[in-house]
Amino acid sequence: MRKFVEIDEEFICENCGKKIEKLGYTCRDHCNYCLHSKHVDINPGDRAEECHGDLEPISVELSNKKGYVIVYKCKKCGRIRKNKAAKDDNMDLIIKLTVSKTV
Ligand SMILES: [Zn+2]
Ligand SMILES: [Zn+2]
Repeated sequence: MRKFVEIDEEFICENCGKKIEKLGYTCRDHCNYCLHSKHVDINPGDRAEECHGDLEPISVELSNKKGYVIVYKCKKCGRIRKNKAAKDDNMDLIIKLTVSKTV
């Protein structure tokens, strides 16, 4: 059985080029400036996906249990993924994406 591993590490965002600091409380899986992510996980944090495409945030859902959940579409394979928003994410962008869905 594969162990569930969360990798929390610094990385350079491939979309905006900013250096993303470690999150500290859970795995950092997306850029907190432009919210882009990378299609590297099958299960959160496992880095087992071989696509490595750019995950583009297409909308944000507001869940009562989880708070903001960012919905991504992979530019390479077209799959939809969801990631929980982090506490230091760009709130302006999150709100923009939330509004654009409900309008
Ligand atoms: Zn970025
Ligand atoms: Zn993909």
